[in-house]
Amino acid sequence: MKLLIGKTAIITGASRGIGRGIAKIFVENGCAVAFTYNSNKEAADNLVAELSSEEVKVKGYKSNAANYNEAQKLVEEVLVDFGSLDILVNNAGITKDNLLMRMSEEDFDQVIEINLKSIFNMTKAIQRTFLKQRHGSLIHMSSVVGVKGNAGQSNYAASKAGMIGFSKSVALELGSRNIRSNVIAPGFIETEMTDKLSEDVVQGWRDGIPLKRGGQPEDVANACVFLASDLSSYITGQVLHVDGGMLT
Ligand code: NAP
Repeated sequence: MKLLIGKTAIITGASRGIGRGIAKIFVENGCAVAFTYNSNKEAADNLVAELSSEEVKVKGYKSNAANYNEAQKLVEEVLVDFGSLDILVNNAGITKDNLLMRMSEEDFDQVIEINLKSIFNMTKAIQRTFLKQRHGSLIHMSSVVGVKGNAGQSNYAASKAGMIGFSKSVALELGSRNIRSNVIAPGFIETEMTDKLSEDVVQGWRDGIPLKRGGQPEDVANACVFLASDLSSYITGQVLHVDGGMLT
């Protein structure tokens, strides 16, 4: 059964990794998809070619989620191109890991701007549309690290924890207009972001997970389909852990 027929979504950071997986599964569920990327135009063009069909429109936009004005412009353009908007997936994110002692101010600021400020930018930009139509689903991609902390990732953990506070506040502010805001907290998902880690570290992560494997982008994407669809119409302000039981 296709769960997102007739809906349109913006997904930030979908040229690869988890975002790409979300775009694919949304399209399989009948959702029109406008997605963004930061620099990798070739990967974005390939995704459009792979997913576009007569039934479902797919378009990629180069847009820096950390830039307030670019976020506003993006939503305006998507509304012109697609005619409507029902779902926002704030997925774009980066890491700049280091122990606090060695972390530069620039690396702290950049991670906060791209991971946390971006969700303010995008949610502000889409809010008016959702308010007018009296529905909308906001999904923010946090991390197990935002809930638990992680040595060497104080900037990333702060950004991901901040997303949870932001989402819960927005859920309280906008619930009366039937706008839902939820967070997904993935655990260890095997993508280019985690390819930077050594095989030993990766195996260590896998061994520590109750389900004994790293997650795949599809595992996160399926949770997004649920939160985007009407199946979750009475669910807001929540954090859904997609982590193979890591936090259990
Ligand atoms: P990834 O493979 O590194 O992909 C990141 C995506 O974000 C790319 O499409 C990239 O575009 C885009 N991006 C980066 N900076 C951007 C910006 N300023 N504006 C717009 N787009 C931007 O990452 P991933 O592993 O799929 O992670 C996706 C999300 O899940 C992130 O928020 C991450 O923190 C979160 N997460 C990941 C894991 C994991 O284990 N992988 C676990 C928990 C949470 P370009 O290709 O153009 O650079």
